[in-house]
Amino acid sequence: MEIINTINLTKDIDWEFIDQVRKESGQDTALCYQCGNCTAGCPYTEFFDYPVNQIMRLLQTGQKKMILNSRAIWLCATCEGCTTRCPCEIDVAHIMDILRIIARRENYVSEKDVKKFYDSFLASMKHHGRVFEMEVLLGYNLRSGHFLTDADLGPKVLGKGKLHFLPTRIKGKDQVARIFEKFYEKEKNRG
Ligand code: SF4
Ligand code: SF4
Repeated sequence: MEIINTINLTKDIDWEFIDQVRKESGQDTALCYQCGNCTAGCPYTEFFDYPVNQIMRLLQTGQKKMILNSRAIWLCATCEGCTTRCPCEIDVAHIMDILRIIARRENYVSEKDVKKFYDSFLASMKHHGRVFEMEVLLGYNLRSGHFLTDADLGPKVLGKGKLHFLPTRIKGKDQVARIFEKFYEKEKNRG
């Protein structure tokens, strides 16, 4: 017998969450009419537990825990395919970003290694004003404990001059660091 999983969307509606995402993203999620265009163009949909149009539906019905526990919000690559395809001009990719920020803030992290990769990436950005790939790689390997991740790729990319041992100096490094400080301050003041 075929088992069909259904979700009762009228249960546990978190109205505050709906409002919070609307305010933080600046997007009107109520405009979504479930056409599915976003999911049709999403390159990662096969790895998501909920396709992006279903995330939008869960959002409209205030299913906070289901969304923040989902893998989809961490596996989203922010490619913006969904945003460009949405006939209602909803910035869906930005909503996915906001959901990830809220999940991080409230300690819902379903994909711990993805978060560790983001942590390494952002630390490098803050430190150098742009990404220093070697640092991201080592930072991720140390944080995740996967010490040999991508080690086999090292000689290939080094041979092509794609991986540098020292960071590139850029103008505006301090301004980039200030953007990070301002964000952290805003998050702290959120209480
Ligand atoms: S931004 Fe995320 S959800 Fe949207 S299409 Fe790209 S991977 Fe899929
Ligand atoms: S493309 Fe836009 S309207 Fe269509 S399902 Fe996705 S978010 Fe909703």
